[in-house]
Amino acid sequence: MKTGEDLKKELIKIDHKSYGMYKTLSGSYGFGKYILNIDHVQGDPFASPSRLRFEVKKEQHGFPEEYYKTKDRRLALEDQVLRKFLRQLGRVDKVTSGSGKSGRITTCPANQTVQERIAVVFSKEKMELRFEMGFPARGRSIMAGEMQKLVFHILPELAENCLIFSNWDRKEKENLKEAIFLADDQKALREEIKKRNLVAFVADGAILPRESGVSDRPMGNAVKFASPDDLRVKIVLPHKGEITGMGIPAGITVITGGGYHGKSTLLKALEQGVYNHIKGDGREYVVSEASGVKIRAEDGRSVRHTDISLFINHLPAGQDTSDFSSENASGSTSQAANLIEALEADASLLFLDEDTSATNFMIRDNVMAKLVSDEKEPITTLLRHIRGIYQSFGVSFLIVVGSSGDYLSVADLVLQLDHYEVKNVTKQAKQICKEEGMENLYPAGKVTKPAFERKLKPVKPGRRKIKSMGTDSVIIDRETIDVRYLEQIAENGQTTALAYLMEWILDHQKKEENIRDILNHLYETIEKKGMGAVIPPNYSAGHPVLPRKQELFACLSRYRSANIIR
Ligand code: ADP
Ligand code: MG
Repeated sequence: MKTGEDLKKELIKIDHKSYGMYKTLSGSYGFGKYILNIDHVQGDPFASPSRLRFEVKKEQHGFPEEYYKTKDRRLALEDQVLRKFLRQLGRVDKVTSGSGKSGRITTCPANQTVQERIAVVFSKEKMELRFEMGFPARGRSIMAGEMQKLVFHILPELAENCLIFSNWDRKEKENLKEAIFLADDQKALREEIKKRNLVAFVADGAILPRESGVSDRPMGNAVKFASPDDLRVKIVLPHKGEITGMGIPAGITVITGGGYHGKSTLLKALEQGVYNHIKGDGREYVVSEASGVKIRAEDGRSVRHTDISLFINHLPAGQDTSDFSSENASGSTSQAANLIEALEADASLLFLDEDTSATNFMIRDNVMAKLVSDEKEPITTLLRHIRGIYQSFGVSFLIVVGSSGDYLSVADLVLQLDHYEVKNVTKQAKQICKEEGMENLYPAGKVTKPAFERKLKPVKPGRRKIKSMGTDSVIIDRETIDVRYLEQIAENGQTTALAYLMEWILDHQKKEENIRDILNHLYETIEKKGMGAVIPPNYSAGHPVLPRKQELFACLSRYRSANIIR
């Protein structure tokens, strides 16, 4: 392998030459404790920066093996190393001069969750950290001296500080150990709630509201969560010991209360409970069933061959709703499709908020039923099917309802938010239903399993242009897939990864195959071999962060150019 000395010589040769000569530097260079890989060199100083990768053998990095022997611990370790690198980057002054992105070093940003990110990966043998750097230039001419400063001064310091365990100070090592222990505890908590047939847990003392609509950090003076006495459960975690909090059993749970009392805030925290949160977030011990999916109305979305006949029938134009396609679904049909597709993607918990639901999908009152007869109404409301869905498929619901009282009659548990405080009002709610003659108004009816038979047909291979924008869109060639209503996407990198995973599927589809099988197979591969097995190391843009299968499923379902058939 070439060494740092070789890199120095090559740099001297190309000083002041045209920018394109930087391309000759691609390759791997040994720097003693670490290897510096130059995976991709940018075309000009204004293009997206060059992509580099530190590689450190385990004998050199020295992180304790027990920190990466289980998956949950490994993710916590990778997360902590990334955060330390980001902190360190914040301290690196822009020491180099030059045009465009000269000298700028960046990597994958991290918010409040622990995720599987391609930026930092520990394996049995080594760890790798990926970052970008703008190769310096004046105009289009190479500034070798500036590049030397970066490669022989800044980068070694970054690598030494972040990637060599013995260089972490006592406090940092302590924090790392806490993060590892937290990962153990979160894993234990998730296992425990499953055992007790709970679908979610909110610890006493948790902080649910966020700083602002655009910040995921905890709100400063929030009212801390306190569980109602009759829903309080105790769970003993391996490191933290006993914690208490509200356990939400499997079934249908309605969250109600006056406007602005904190209903949506509780639901949002539970929606994000599919992920683990970092220490200090306030939601460290707020967890929900990991396959849970938020279901909302999304008019305008594209639907391809989804069986929505459970909810929609006899459309005026006579479309077959057991094999329904639309380029422009309505509020109710989009919400029905979202729900069915979530089940197709193995969700066993569904989150709904009245605020973002189509009213006619949720309820239909008696007065309206008198005017517009049942035969003329294509929609069978969720209200009519909700008990059946729970009983037949074992799928639980967490629903925020402020105004449709009918939902009280189908609920197993009714929670009321009162000044951000949760109360169990199930008994009162049932009493009212009785007085109003609403008991068993919507019993569990027969629900037939929707046909999960959608297949993907191979498409012509070829180079595709892929891109992503924030958490809003995935772009494949000329089509923009709108994913902004997949509200559980937590990081931009997940959208980036969605784009790469979509590309992988399109490239590897050799025969007609059920979408469920394709995705299950893909996620098994990632589980076994890591994201690197499907997203090649020389990926061209962004910072892939593994999305859940449910989000990939949703993205594929919204892709208008997909060759989905039945
Ligand atoms: P709802 O859905 O019941 O109308 P929201 O959940 O939207 O209410 O909450 C209303 C406001 O109260 C939001 O600005 C939210 O940030 C704030 N809030 C929610 N929970 C708390 C809490 N525990 N402490 C302080 N503020 C809170
Ligand atoms: Mg609300």
